[in-house]
Amino acid sequence: MCAKKRKGLSDADKAAARLVALYEKAERDIAARITRTMAATDGDKNKLTIRALEQQHKAIKKILKQLLAKTKKPVNEIVNNTFNGGLAVARKELKGAGMTDIVLEMGGINTRTMKVYSEQVYNRMADVVQQANRTTSDIYQALKMNTALTGAIGGYDAIGNVRRNMQKVSEDAGITAFIDKRGRSWNMASYTDMLCRTSSMQIFHQAKTNEYLAHGEDLVIVSSHYPTCDKCAPWNGKVLSLTGETPGYPTMEEAKAAGLFHPNCRHTYGLYIPDDGAGNNQQPEFNNSTSAEFAESLKTAKGNVEALKPEIAWRVAAHTKEEFEGDYPGAALHVTEGGSTVAITADGDIISVCKNPSDRVRGSDLLKLAVDNGGVKLDSYSGNHEFYINNGFEPVSWCRWSDDYASDDWKRANNIKDGDNSWRQKSNAELHVKKENIIFYKYTGKKSKYLEPGDFENAVPAAKDYDAAKAERDKSIE
Ligand SMILES: [Zn+2]
Ligand SMILES: [Zn+2]
Repeated sequence: MCAKKRKGLSDADKAAARLVALYEKAERDIAARITRTMAATDGDKNKLTIRALEQQHKAIKKILKQLLAKTKKPVNEIVNNTFNGGLAVARKELKGAGMTDIVLEMGGINTRTMKVYSEQVYNRMADVVQQANRTTSDIYQALKMNTALTGAIGGYDAIGNVRRNMQKVSEDAGITAFIDKRGRSWNMASYTDMLCRTSSMQIFHQAKTNEYLAHGEDLVIVSSHYPTCDKCAPWNGKVLSLTGETPGYPTMEEAKAAGLFHPNCRHTYGLYIPDDGAGNNQQPEFNNSTSAEFAESLKTAKGNVEALKPEIAWRVAAHTKEEFEGDYPGAALHVTEGGSTVAITADGDIISVCKNPSDRVRGSDLLKLAVDNGGVKLDSYSGNHEFYINNGFEPVSWCRWSDDYASDDWKRANNIKDGDNSWRQKSNAELHVKKENIIFYKYTGKKSKYLEPGDFENAVPAAKDYDAAKAERDKSIE
């Protein structure tokens, strides 16, 4: 979803990039000047005159002043374009849901909201500039003291003071603007970038909220994707009340207080129209099933496939309730109305894809559902290769079939009796159901050039084992 939206940079993105570039250039320039001064000052031997130091300091203050003066325009562009973008998206949603009547006259609320956001972002940028001013002033103050104290003994440790402050300034890392709760330090440019991104999200959401409320709509649905962090997990796909006026729903405020929409959170929200009983509801929520229900549905669906086509049913592993809970904590488990199953683990792995033969949903619909809800990868016996490449999955790595991991289902499909081990010596030509390699895929949305599993296996060397193949594929996704 996101990938499609990011085709081109929006005007807001462009303004943000310009702002970040401005700050980056300024901090580099300042850091380079200070580094040169430090190189010219060699402890007690070479000292710049107080006058020379003052001139340099003045030049730096001028750079910072000009930087702040150039901040306002891009900030306004970011805020206004993002806000108007949010309004447009919300209007489209409302129109799509047949809601065009404005019930609440918003008057100048939108204009005022944009103004407040512009001020807020600008003030944060002013703090960054002020911080840089303080750091550089401290350095020059100490350097001047160092010059003034020439010949004096003991007392004020001017050079030590400079060195401590120089930890915040370097040509490579810029000038420290902010240290967060986790102790990570942000330079002027990276802080600006983070501020733009978090503010944009807030502004975009506020615009949508204003527009929903103007149309008397109070319910929104939080997007759902996997993987998701612990803070967001409880709110994935949840319906929230914007104002708290619709009973039976948690409020937006509660969700935010609990951590949803934290910095760099990928969640967003959209208009939610409750089911009116006439079947006009939006698509059903993904992750609609408990582990017990899901395991039961998977067993049933797989059993139905096995009755019809035992030679393919073995490829799906029928995990138990305990396995889902123990091996795949936090997985989103989905059962369609027709009893087909698909699940997405917490790290975006698509598992337990099983189409119930009587379900009208197609296998490719199941995969699309998984991808739309955050599934990014899967692995499968090579017999399913064609199905997966036809649905936008690209093979990345593979491992060979291992007799030691042959499942009971596979043995049953081959009519292998208990205690009979002769199958281990048999080649695929002698087996009814073949020994298939395992291929690891990632979702690209494009059709792979490897039409046959053999094409891929000839082109790419096998990984050492299942775990190695998995690791190789996962690395290609990061
Ligand atoms: Zn999160
Ligand atoms: Zn989130």
